[in-house]
Amino acid sequence: MSFISERVKQIKPSATLAITAKAKAMKASGIDIVSFGAGEPDFDTPDNIKEAAHNAIRSGFTKYTAVGGTDELKEAIAARMKEDCHVEYALNNIIASCGGKHSLYNIFQAIINPGDEVIIPSPYWVSYPDMVLLAGGKPVIVDCHEETGFKMQPHQLSSLITEKTKAIVINSPSNPTGAAYTEDDLKALAEIAVNNNLLVISDEIYNRISYNNFKVVSMASLGEEIRKLTLVVNGVSKTYSMTGWRIGYVAGDEEIVKAMNKIQAQSTSNPTSISQAAAIEALIGPQAPAEEMVSHFEKRKDYIVQELNAINGVTCFDPQGAFYAFPNVSSYFGKSHGGDEIKNSADMTRYLLEEAKVAVVPGGEFGAEGYIRLSYATSMENIEKGLKRIKEALASL
Ligand code: PMP
Ligand code: GLU
Repeated sequence: MSFISERVKQIKPSATLAITAKAKAMKASGIDIVSFGAGEPDFDTPDNIKEAAHNAIRSGFTKYTAVGGTDELKEAIAARMKEDCHVEYALNNIIASCGGKHSLYNIFQAIINPGDEVIIPSPYWVSYPDMVLLAGGKPVIVDCHEETGFKMQPHQLSSLITEKTKAIVINSPSNPTGAAYTEDDLKALAEIAVNNNLLVISDEIYNRISYNNFKVVSMASLGEEIRKLTLVVNGVSKTYSMTGWRIGYVAGDEEIVKAMNKIQAQSTSNPTSISQAAAIEALIGPQAPAEEMVSHFEKRKDYIVQELNAINGVTCFDPQGAFYAFPNVSSYFGKSHGGDEIKNSADMTRYLLEEAKVAVVPGGEFGAEGYIRLSYATSMENIEKGLKRIKEALASL
């Protein structure tokens, strides 16, 4: 008999984290791996942010804080959201947690009753469906195709709404495709959400990472009715290269934020006091280091997309944001290597890891068979080396 709960048996390990750990272990054992696995900026956290953390330690800011973060942090979050999203929030509409992942987890725990449905456009970030399952809900997946820019179409959303639908998830710019919704796209979805009284979980964690002057719009900025229904999720991990500091946040309805506080008070308590101090500096201190990172990402994006499209049989969507390339490699399915047929994206990932020593994440994990995900949050040198290996490995099939 297993002691493990049925709830946990339904979910699977995070593929993004599992592949990243595997690549790291292979590297540590002396294998020359190029990793396109982790969605984690390769830059160091800017010095002014580290200094704020040192100051927090030196001044003894090392104790429990308010469960949902200090007022100073919430004020910094409100100021950043006013500037970036053009929406004003009071402090009781805001809660800070231990990373955007924790913020999302708390949202689902706070809003889902058994059997409630949450509409999730695919390709989706690996954790959404499992978080919904852990909360006792039912993920309802909408296939969004490359021909429509990997974006959920209003008629698709309308056709899936039932009395059980509680919320929809929008992630723009998206992990894994890099696709982003325009203001008009969002308005059409917002209208449906308002008419059906659905919550919108708007994961805007890549809102500052966009290309070719693409204007990233916050769902919450599209009017009072949709603002009330929207829970904006963001954090400092991606924008400020602070993945290890674990600060994420949510802004939205006061009652839901209160419920999330209650969950947090019975689980983690406050996010780390030192990281909170660092996050304040990140959010309201100089923004030039963050902008500098985006200009590097853009150069890498241009290169990686061009080179992937130049590989025979591969096509790659040109992303509007985030730091992922999501090429279609399905024309190689059915080919064999050493007697083993490559049938799907998981087989392709295994082949690339074992034969080319390149780590990527299979599209199947994001609900999109036929694709693989490459994170270009790695140096140009690694990108060049990794792409050369992929090209050679595919040519030899
Ligand atoms: N949302 C998306 C779409 C992500 O890619 C990530 C990256 N892990 C997160 C949320 C959460 O990031 P973190 O927990 O580091 O804030
Ligand atoms: N979000 C990043 C990724 O997709 C980090 C890993 C994770 O938290 O899933 O690779």
